[in-house]
Amino acid sequence: MRFDIVTIFPQFFEGFLSHGIVRRARQRSQVQVSVHDLRDFTYDRHHVVDDRPFGGSDGMVLKPEPIFRAVEALTHPFQYTPLGEDRQAAEQAPVSVIVLTPQGKPFTQAEAARLSQKEQIVLICGRYEGIDERVAQNVATDELSIGDYVLSGGEVAAMVVSDAIIRLLPETLGSATSAVNESFSAGRLDYPVYTRPACYRGLEVPKELMTGHHAEIDLWRRRKALEKTKAYRPDLLRDTAALDALDQKILKTIEAEAEDRH
Ligand code: SAM
Repeated sequence: MRFDIVTIFPQFFEGFLSHGIVRRARQRSQVQVSVHDLRDFTYDRHHVVDDRPFGGSDGMVLKPEPIFRAVEALTHPFQYTPLGEDRQAAEQAPVSVIVLTPQGKPFTQAEAARLSQKEQIVLICGRYEGIDERVAQNVATDELSIGDYVLSGGEVAAMVVSDAIIRLLPETLGSATSAVNESFSAGRLDYPVYTRPACYRGLEVPKELMTGHHAEIDLWRRRKALEKTKAYRPDLLRDTAALDALDQKILKTIEAEAEDRH
């Protein structure tokens, strides 16, 4: 898979690309990540990438021309369909051109899994008041938001999106099963984890984890995972179809116990 990140601050990505799983995946050629300076796609002497908004208001807007040019230079023209032309075709194409914006579709683990099947992903980082809307409508295949808050720029969002996708690529993680058991993959959050020492400042590790009894440990972990999901993300449990049969049974027990207490 290939990522092309378009930004006015290419240096932002130096640390991100040279550490941990992302670094390893690049070294092993499981993924290729190139960062492009938007100013390289300007033709004027001052490399201007922004201008004042039509209709008035504060701040500046990223201009369409350098972004159109960047995407045209980085992609093959027939490998994707822009969002404004056909939303479904845009989603299915082998190339995704993603505008990062708080106005976009929420980025989720399911979106990360869908995007991990792509051949190429172009990530366009906004700044200031955002990006001229003609980019989203005529060049992008997706508009993605990483959450209900406003960041100063799309660079952090581009790191979030690419990191979540890269760790789903085959053999990127140390163990093949790691991603399968993580939060959101099985319709709930992951279970809490502990390590040595078994007792720290009088704080004991739950005794169920010390039994060496695998079935008991599995049951305890599932229960804790479901309790945590119920407390912090009840929305995930609104549709329990994504839970396996054992999780569904444990959830019913937790709910029955809660009712008994009231
Ligand atoms: N005026 C815009 C709005 O309120 O919708 C916010 C612009 S924001 C200050 C500048 C840039 O940061 C955006 O163009 C986008 O690329 C990025 N950004 C901010 N919040 C984001 C989020 N939640 N998800 C993805 N990108 C975000």
